Amino acid sequence: MEMPIGTFEVVAKDNKTKARRGRLYTRRGIIETPAFAPDATYAVLKHLSTHDLEKIGLQMILTNTYHVNIRPGLEVIKEHNGIHNFLKYDKPILTDSGGWQVFSLVYESKMGKVLDNGVKFRDHISGDEHFLTPQKAIDIQLTLDSDILMVLDYPVSPNANKKDNLYSISRTTAWAKISKDTFVKDERSRDKILYGIIQGANDKDLRKKSFEELEQIGFGGYGFGGVPLYDDVVEYTADLIPDSKLRYMMGSGTPDDIKKYVAMGYDLFDCVVPTRNARHGLLYTSEGEMRITNAKFKFDKKPVDEKCDCELCTTYSRSYLHHLFKIKEPLGRRLATIHNLRFYVKMMEEMRKLINH
Ligand SMILES: [Zn+2]
Repeated sequence: MEMPIGTFEVVAKDNKTKARRGRLYTRRGIIETPAFAPDATYAVLKHLSTHDLEKIGLQMILTNTYHVNIRPGLEVIKEHNGIHNFLKYDKPILTDSGGWQVFSLVYESKMGKVLDNGVKFRDHISGDEHFLTPQKAIDIQLTLDSDILMVLDYPVSPNANKKDNLYSISRTTAWAKISKDTFVKDERSRDKILYGIIQGANDKDLRKKSFEELEQIGFGGYGFGGVPLYDDVVEYTADLIPDSKLRYMMGSGTPDDIKKYVAMGYDLFDCVVPTRNARHGLLYTSEGEMRITNAKFKFDKKPVDEKCDCELCTTYSRSYLHHLFKIKEPLGRRLATIHNLRFYVKMMEEMRKLINH
């Protein structure tokens, strides 16, 4: 039976933890969860082509609305009829709202101001002034033609006081309402999915308040907003979200983090960790982390990971990759990125296999 786009179904549960295996129906096929989406910030995963992504076996990617909106700019994407055709990728693409980057500019670089109805800021490339509103965040993501969109939320620093946190929740709710209304009214949303983002920092009561307000508006899935500092709050937030809705841990994902959060019942992850660490020579293997620049690998003829079937591990030695990193050859960064992403793909596959009750 053809399922409506946005349907999320839990197909199996773990009998020891809260982990679940599920399926998210998108217009570009089914995403098997728990799933991982690497961050293709500027509509590219550094060093990789879309053929590489296909070979690695990724189910989906994330691109950053803020970055793509500035370079190449929305007009270029429009010219290509959407981001999939621009980067020649036919699997699901998730976009963030751009809020995280904009709030970072405001809080850290003092390059803007938050108003009741949006955020004024200057971008980090041209210094041009922009005004990002909840409506605009939806319009940009619909123009990008992404498959899963996120509402513009109002994050605060993890150390914010209660007053600031309450304000963040009330703005997030108000903006989520505007986002959903804008989304529903726009015809381009028919084959797309929109998720809300739960605020409340490290306070369980505030997390509950934020979730309940968002659930009144109604979303098919929810992201964990802000930086996850305390496991009990992260788990509590997952418990708030009904079984039938997707739980998205945004921007957090070492292999250990992902395993921990999957056990709490989270379904979807994105993170720069595997790709950024690969570019710095830190590889994930079935035997733990490997820093390939370490002198002990200079003469090591073994593959990086004997259990891995990626281009790097089936072709080259640790010694050769060590050499590529020593001479700062881009091929080294490329092979390491392919390996780390393949490691994540296999890790998610294995977790899904283990959830079978
Ligand atoms: Zn490998």
